[in-house]
Amino acid sequence: MPQQAAPESAPALWGDVVPKASELGLAALHGSTPNVGIAGYTLGGGVGFYHRKHGLACNRVTAIELVTAGGEQIRVDAENEPDLFWALRGGGGSFGVVTALEFDLLPLPEILAGALLFPAEQASEVLQGWREWIAGVPEEMTSVGRLMNFPPVPEVPEPFRGKSFAVLEAIYCGDPADGEELVAPLRELGNVGMDTIQAQPPAGIAELHMDPPSPVPYTSESILTQELPASAIDSLVEAVGPGSGSQLVSVELRQTGAALSRAAQDAGALATLPGSFLAFGVGFVPVPEAMAPTRGWLGAFKAALEPYDAGRYFNFVEESFDITQIFAPDVLERLREVKQRYDPHNVFKSNHPVTG
Ligand SMILES: Cc1cc2nc3c(=O)[nH]c(=O)nc-3n(C[C@H](O)[C@H](O)[C@H](O)COP(=O)(O)OP(=O)(O)OC[C@H]3O[C@@H](n4cnc5c(N)ncnc54)[C@H](O)[C@@H]3O)c2cc1C
Repeated sequence: MPQQAAPESAPALWGDVVPKASELGLAALHGSTPNVGIAGYTLGGGVGFYHRKHGLACNRVTAIELVTAGGEQIRVDAENEPDLFWALRGGGGSFGVVTALEFDLLPLPEILAGALLFPAEQASEVLQGWREWIAGVPEEMTSVGRLMNFPPVPEVPEPFRGKSFAVLEAIYCGDPADGEELVAPLRELGNVGMDTIQAQPPAGIAELHMDPPSPVPYTSESILTQELPASAIDSLVEAVGPGSGSQLVSVELRQTGAALSRAAQDAGALATLPGSFLAFGVGFVPVPEAMAPTRGWLGAFKAALEPYDAGRYFNFVEESFDITQIFAPDVLERLREVKQRYDPHNVFKSNHPVTG
């Protein structure tokens, strides 16, 4: 059912919407943190925790209000300004200032979700076991395999501060009892130090991914990959796992595929994501001197996965880059036509311009 976000102040964040929807037994296709803006996230696609079953957030949008380059406030949907409506759903912030988004929510009163933390030394067994496990899980299951090094700073809670872990996250949007059975083998993959997997309302997973609650200085790399063989996990662990010296806060592999691979007929500019995993590595850069080693570890992370390169994902690329790595030539051409029609003087310079 269509719901309109009504934040107390702009910009509307997922943290404004998810708890209210959850109280009504509904869930949104939000991302890993309550602090990300709904507009930026959704205009760039939106890969959340239910994506293998329900696809990209941008393709659940039913109407958008925006201020155009000419200063006009308009409302677009499948019938009104359909080309602009198409471009906004995945084409980013190049086309206007979005002031309202309407999107379908999922009827989902309860999910099974949480994280398992294992000793970092077990990274290889845990990630290899997880890689085998995901081959047999249904689309309702979304999971993430991670290596984490929590920085030794006071903002990090004591049980994690300065410590390293192999982490598995699982989110199941089917019957929680079935989810319990499905995740049982994950608990056997190593010595579980912390287990937060439980049935809960959708609002319960706001902190699941352990993103920082406020802005921190960081640098990142990301890549979409094809299916990863066991040797790719070996390369990844060797490059940035225990013993590598890496201090990257997080290196993660989110399983993608399933609904993300299927284009709905009425999809927007970003209809699908290629590949089977969305990989993201991030390092904390509290002082300028930390940048060089952090970029070095990120380089090693990316080099381990590059043989399986399947492309890039708009929202996870945090610097200027070649937009043809995201959009097929025909999609990019249509995006540029829409840009020319609605913003010929390039009033809106987005984080990832479609104009090249
Ligand atoms: C901690 C963290 C966790 C994240 N987790 C996820 C995740 O799980 N899944 C995922 O897909 N992404 C995730 N992201 C990436 C996030 O979706 C992008 O960084 C996105 O661009 C953030 O949008 P914003 O509005 O918060 O940021 P902003 O910097 O405000 O916006 C980014 C760009 O979006 C456009 N934009 C923003 N608001 C508007 C508007 N009202 N009208 C028109 N254009 C607009 C502009 O081009 C702007 O440059 C995460 C980011 C962070 C920092």
